[in-house]
Amino acid sequence: MTNDPIPNLTVFDETALDRAFAALEQQAREDAAALGSPDALEAFKLKWLGRKQGRLNDVSGRWLKAAPAEAKKPLGVRFNALKVVVEALYDEATGSGPTDAALAAESIDITLPGTQRLIGAEHPITRTLNEITQVFAELGYSVGVGPEVETDYYNFESMNFPPGHPARDTQDTLVVANQDRRPLRDRLLLRTHTSPVQMRTMEQQPPPVRIVIPGKVHRNDAADATHSPIFHQVEGLCVDTNITFSDLKGTLDHAMKALFGPAVKTRFFPSFFPFTEPSADVQISCIFCGGKGCRKCKNSGWIELLGCGMVAPAVFAFAAEKQPAYDPKKISGFAFGMGVERIAMMKYGISEIGSFYAGDMRFLSQFV
Ligand SMILES: [Zn+2]
Repeated sequence: MTNDPIPNLTVFDETALDRAFAALEQQAREDAAALGSPDALEAFKLKWLGRKQGRLNDVSGRWLKAAPAEAKKPLGVRFNALKVVVEALYDEATGSGPTDAALAAESIDITLPGTQRLIGAEHPITRTLNEITQVFAELGYSVGVGPEVETDYYNFESMNFPPGHPARDTQDTLVVANQDRRPLRDRLLLRTHTSPVQMRTMEQQPPPVRIVIPGKVHRNDAADATHSPIFHQVEGLCVDTNITFSDLKGTLDHAMKALFGPAVKTRFFPSFFPFTEPSADVQISCIFCGGKGCRKCKNSGWIELLGCGMVAPAVFAFAAEKQPAYDPKKISGFAFGMGVERIAMMKYGISEIGSFYAGDMRFLSQFV
């Protein structure tokens, strides 16, 4: 360590002050660089920062007092800067302060552009599902939900698919394993349609009922361009006194116009579903060609979109086991169901159903 006494200053101009303070800083840095033991550290502190004999104290005693009035300010500025440097050298040597390297590693370039966060957006399936739900919400329907793992009773039996009935073959079902000891109606499966929620709702509340049931369903189907083992449905159920097939037609005609535009026409064809009687398939006029005939509608001008019908008396009979008000002699109702993927594919011109589930940002970002 240097032990030169602090020299007296006779010239106090800027250049002389710069030179004098630079020399002191240089000495302090050399002293700090040589520090090793705790004793040396203590000696450094005493030598530079000591209250009575410290060099900084010496500087302020000799130079500040000797300086003419106009030099006191520039001298004071340099003195304070030197003090900060010496204290930092001491802190760094004791390990209590951050090192230069640590500070450099933490430094950020504030001129760089910030991290861009992607704006989230509804998945096209969710968006379509919400659109459909909204159309019916405006007609006074509320939303019903239920479990995806269902019992055979709610998924099939109560929907008028008796055990062994061939209608069950139309829905290739994923069944939970190792349930052979349970009665058939209690066995668990992945629901093949959202219809079980119709029964669950009727068991919970007497008529009138107006609900739509959006949700995920599962079937053991091989995936191809238009099929997926998991897909989404929106089902609807309306039960009250004097509900007729005209109400069903009017409701669905309105819903299709709300979803696809006021120019869309609907037509109904006889069909079969176990839980409705009579049943119908609904076609809408082709939204691509306006009914003239094109590749999308196979030149027919019509596209088949959903199934519907009047609720079968057998279904009401199952509901009446818990809610006697579902007496088919006194009330009536209709139900309908549609595939959300199919509607989304039509609305957005998507040809591969798998695009919905692949998680490809190039596909999904089109819907932001
Ligand atoms: Zn067409």
